[in-house]
Amino acid sequence: MPLSHPHAQPPAVGATLEVAPGVHWLRMPLPFALDHINLWLIEDGDGFTAVDTGIAMDSVKAAWKSLLPGRHLTRQIVTHFHPDHLGLAAWLEAETGAPLSMTQGEYLTAHAIAAGIPPFDVASMVQLFRQHGLDAGRCAALEARGNAYRRGVPAIPATFRPLFDGDRLQIGTHTWQVIVGHGHAPEHASLYCADPNVLIAGDMLLPRISTNVSCYAAAPHLDTLGLYLASLERLTRLPEDTLVLPSHGLPFRGLHARVAELVAHHDARCAELLAACAKRPSSAGELLEVLFGRPIEDPHQTMFAMGEAIAHLNHLESHGQLQHRLDDGIIHYTTTHDKE
Ligand SMILES: [Zn+2]
Repeated sequence: MPLSHPHAQPPAVGATLEVAPGVHWLRMPLPFALDHINLWLIEDGDGFTAVDTGIAMDSVKAAWKSLLPGRHLTRQIVTHFHPDHLGLAAWLEAETGAPLSMTQGEYLTAHAIAAGIPPFDVASMVQLFRQHGLDAGRCAALEARGNAYRRGVPAIPATFRPLFDGDRLQIGTHTWQVIVGHGHAPEHASLYCADPNVLIAGDMLLPRISTNVSCYAAAPHLDTLGLYLASLERLTRLPEDTLVLPSHGLPFRGLHARVAELVAHHDARCAELLAACAKRPSSAGELLEVLFGRPIEDPHQTMFAMGEAIAHLNHLESHGQLQHRLDDGIIHYTTTHDKE
């Protein structure tokens, strides 16, 4: 089944569009190349459960303020710790009293990064990237940017209701199942409702762009790409005609086809990295252009690109196809066959 989009246009900022019985789509701005995020309101008795909150930015608060009159928020479910998802949870709790639900892995990660606790601080991230061959100029630009996370998430609710994989949440007249996935964030929560057949995918499954798969300083050798691919495979157990509600882009049907495209995408990236490392030992920093086909300069993009490169290299190493060695303190990868 090829991808199909039941709605060609998103709702305007500050408006809603019902995409499934009792499920309403909101769009909020983002100050990045990726300029929007989708949020969802699920009818919940006399009110609504919000799924994700938007980044802390005046225009997002203004959109919420235009939406909230006449709508009672019963709770907030946040899929993962990234600022566009968690950013306004504390503000929304103060405005509406709606408590926060998220997984413990996401809640703790948010606190550690916001507080800048090593190894979740900027210095540890930059040190990881330096070891992986990112040049001094781009390392300095990342350091100069400081703790951007705290700007996007200025406060975190003081308490939360932990979500666990397999939880069944009664929201209004429907039951939603929590599906925890890995690789994009530690314990990302997606939500599936069998009737209507809807998956709120968060960032785990997007229709056009490939989800960022990253690496973080606290677990520098973790095969996050392998974890992500396994999480995608789990989603393919859902019906092919599931309506997928992604955090970016348009709602779509064609879950299995999209997962197949993403698996092929990562296979191709891995093959390119293997070919480059077979020619000469290479660091993640040197491989950025191989992976992305263009120079990456913007610090925000550099952070995602380096994480993505290291994740692919860790994946290949964990499958015995690459091995790393230190040359002048920089991690270089070589192919495991035809060694000198
Ligand atoms: Zn995300």
